[in-house]
Amino acid sequence: MVVGGVIILLTLLFWIAPMVVAYRLGLRLNRPGLALALAAVLGWIGVIIAVSWNSEEPDQNHAPPQIAACPFCQAPVRLGANLCPHCQRELPSA
Ligand SMILES: [Zn+2]
Repeated sequence: MVVGGVIILLTLLFWIAPMVVAYRLGLRLNRPGLALALAAVLGWIGVIIAVSWNSEEPDQNHAPPQIAACPFCQAPVRLGANLCPHCQRELPSA
């Protein structure tokens, strides 16, 4: 049966393959279950959604910490702080 073979091939291409790809992407983002569910329902569109998470995540995780040095004691202080936690002196607003 040629038709049966085509259906199996199409199922593999448009359902199983995106699920495998989405699952691997999801593992990297610590949400394989959600990625797998998206691919199972949406196929390759679900994979595209999982890829878009992948490009969003690094910006949030690797944002540089907002740290400045205290002008009096050189201790690291959060930007925008009014009082140095190390020497307790009032900091000029940057
Ligand atoms: Zn200080």
